[in-house]
Amino acid sequence: MSDTFNTPAPTSNLNLTERDQKVIWHPYTQMKNALPHIPIVRGEGVYVFDEKGKKYIDAVSSWWVNIHGHSHPYIAKKVAEQLNVLEHVIFAGFTHEPAVLLAERLLPILPGQQDKVFYTDNGSTAVEVALKMCLQYWNNKGIPKTKILAFKNAYHGDTFGAMSVSGRSIFTDAFNGLLFDVEFIDLPNEDNIANLKSQIANLKSKTACFIFEPLILGSGGMLMYEAKYLDELIFACNEAEILTIADEVMTGFGRTGTYFACEKLTNKPDIFCLSKGLTGGTMPLGITTCSNKIFEAFLSEDKLKTLYHGHSFTANPIACVASLASLDILLDSKTLQNIKRIENKHAVFLEEIKSHTKVKAVRHTGTIIAIEWETGNETSYLSSLRNLLYAYFLDKGIILRPLGNIIYILPPYVISDEDLDYVYSAIKSALEEI
Ligand SMILES: *Cc1c(COP(=O)(O)O)cnc(C)c1O
Repeated sequence: MSDTFNTPAPTSNLNLTERDQKVIWHPYTQMKNALPHIPIVRGEGVYVFDEKGKKYIDAVSSWWVNIHGHSHPYIAKKVAEQLNVLEHVIFAGFTHEPAVLLAERLLPILPGQQDKVFYTDNGSTAVEVALKMCLQYWNNKGIPKTKILAFKNAYHGDTFGAMSVSGRSIFTDAFNGLLFDVEFIDLPNEDNIANLKSQIANLKSKTACFIFEPLILGSGGMLMYEAKYLDELIFACNEAEILTIADEVMTGFGRTGTYFACEKLTNKPDIFCLSKGLTGGTMPLGITTCSNKIFEAFLSEDKLKTLYHGHSFTANPIACVASLASLDILLDSKTLQNIKRIENKHAVFLEEIKSHTKVKAVRHTGTIIAIEWETGNETSYLSSLRNLLYAYFLDKGIILRPLGNIIYILPPYVISDEDLDYVYSAIKSALEEI
């Protein structure tokens, strides 16, 4: 075999952006008027580099997955070693050290008592499995509880079950008629918490589970709410025998200032969904964990009580090894120091800008800050504003992808003070210039 592939592209006289345009359909992209996609040739730490050598600060951690920086040498080494030993093996009837070791290391650091790990490929599938665990839990017990409770504006993924438990939005519009019915509740606050609790009590007899993003609704616009109210909702669910699912796909692995957002709760959920930062952003992998209470409801001589779910690449050994390496880095005390450093700097920055006339609201949890841009009533301005801001920051060598009129920073934990200051100053100049 040669150093390059033996299959040269038939259109190789074109540049990569042009070749891309001919054959690729990109995610979350209106392809009719999409900006040319920027070819990235290399990543290092908080930076990615394009073909021309231009450097970009990845201030959104490449869609929230990259927690330790790009091409991390320790993760790369562990992955390369594993590639020469075992790339993959069927996970029904067989097992392997990386999958078992990852489960052994992860379960004890999850908040509350978690006993079993179920592997899948991504965040959406981790959510699908969590929902199936809950629905079949009640089915196996012969108790007809099939309703699901979720937050308005939630986002739990793009497969059909995950879409169903997500808020109805432009993302789901074409499919709304096909999504199953879900009971949506408001985010809790001082004023509505008593109401929400009685709502939950009333849903007791028919509701299988409550799925939530703890502390922050990510794609919904970085909407934040307080741990103490979530604690009360989980307590109400426990009283009503409604199972609870913490979707920590985005909040897991240090994002909110603690290893997991649910560490801030007294009442712990029955199930966790993990992905995104799990492998340090190196490979796709999803995990759903549960307590023995749930697992044991599937143990039976009756074949119908089995959890019939599995993906071809379940527990891929390379992805498990990437996760083990990422965990080593996460649990190193330097990483927690970095997380606290980012948290403190964010707080200072928000104080500086929160009274700016163009700032409608600011929100902050852990390593995430969100700045809501004042738009008055003009919704057409809103869509053009998002594109203006996106291009403005790209031009300055920063990847920030506003959610409509909401700019957020969600950086890899290795971002330096200098680079953070550069991102802050770009946002400040955007507030003046746009
Ligand atoms: C991104 C996300 C998902 C979906 O994960 P994918 O890997 O993109 O399928 C689910 N839940 C939350 C909270 C997310 O942020």
